[in-house]
Amino acid sequence: MPHTTPIQAPAFPSRLPGVGTTIFTVMSALAAETGAVNLGQGFPDFGCDPKLTSLVNDAMREGLNQYPPMSGVAPLRAAISGKIERLYGHRYDAEREITVTAGGTQAIFTAVLCCAGPGDEVIVLDPCYDCYVPAIKMAGARAVRVPLTPGTFRPDFGRIAAALTPRTRLLISNTPHNPGGAVWSSADMRALQDMLASTAVLLLSDEVYEHMVYDGARHESVARYPGLAARAFIISSFGKTYHVTGWKIGYVAAPAALTDELRKVHQFNVFTVNTPMQHGIARYLQDPAPYLNLSAFYTERRERLRAALARTRLRLLPCQGTYFQCAAYDGLSIAERDLNEADFCLWLTREIGVAAVPLSAFYGNAFDQKIIRFCFAKRNETLDEAARRLARL
Ligand code: PMP
Repeated sequence: MPHTTPIQAPAFPSRLPGVGTTIFTVMSALAAETGAVNLGQGFPDFGCDPKLTSLVNDAMREGLNQYPPMSGVAPLRAAISGKIERLYGHRYDAEREITVTAGGTQAIFTAVLCCAGPGDEVIVLDPCYDCYVPAIKMAGARAVRVPLTPGTFRPDFGRIAAALTPRTRLLISNTPHNPGGAVWSSADMRALQDMLASTAVLLLSDEVYEHMVYDGARHESVARYPGLAARAFIISSFGKTYHVTGWKIGYVAAPAALTDELRKVHQFNVFTVNTPMQHGIARYLQDPAPYLNLSAFYTERRERLRAALARTRLRLLPCQGTYFQCAAYDGLSIAERDLNEADFCLWLTREIGVAAVPLSAFYGNAFDQKIIRFCFAKRNETLDEAARRLARL
């Protein structure tokens, strides 16, 4: 047998040298390996409305299976535009101002890439969703991380204003907020609007949890604030709203001038998003009940998890929106409360049999507040089993 040396790929410098396996992947793998109840990663463990799958199947059977228009199929863009206008009072032109994307993640990546580049700064508010900073880095821009108020995750406009420079191109906001569960008030939105009024800073408003707000609060979409809407890419995701995170379908609503630039990148990034799901969702959107009832649907699950956690020595943090509940473990016995958040989550998975994620994973500097995040987008039986196990805490 001749000896052959495997041919190596040429070495090249990583474009994202700091990125490795995320704690979400580690925790999910550990949960699977140990049989822990996985309240870590944010996805529902229940199915979507069978009506929605039927509508997608119908579209496939009708032969709607070829490339759709680059910006999305017309009925879906019209349905999205109608929904935004009815809910938030701002009319986006379906032809020129709505773009269907492969989920929120691709929407965010595309929006960042189309406006930020070398020499630009993009402000993110820590703790923040983990795809923002890699997108900024891939654009060649610099991420400027400004902390939200620790513990409450409310915006600190003094700190945000202090971070603005002539190089600031974009600010990324997120309400309802993952991981903190905070919901910005109309006073917050007005403060943001006032702060940006004299600047040329664009806004990326991540509103993927727009239909999950509790206790009578309302979602303050940027679309409600003309001074913000004029400079904003609004992003949402049907994965969250319709319990289909694996479908990866969402959209961007933005003024025509912004959308023109967004579509230049979108066109050569994914070009189009799968056709039958676009038609299925367009038809399903005709009935507003599923998204209007979502807050009530999740309120029940939120209460179930909160009641379970309230029976432990974990300290509940407020949850005004999203399907995430944060809790602090600073009241546990010394050995456990001395663990950092990542180690505490490993301990919780192995010893208690429930997986959660550390908040430090959402910060640039691994800031440790002894806070972990649970996801309550789960069946009652899943939440009850988690409750039974957590009762030992
Ligand atoms: N933004 C936030 C705040 C999220 O939590 C998520 C999903 N976890 C996304 C964007 C991405 O949405 P999608 O799954 O549609 O890509």
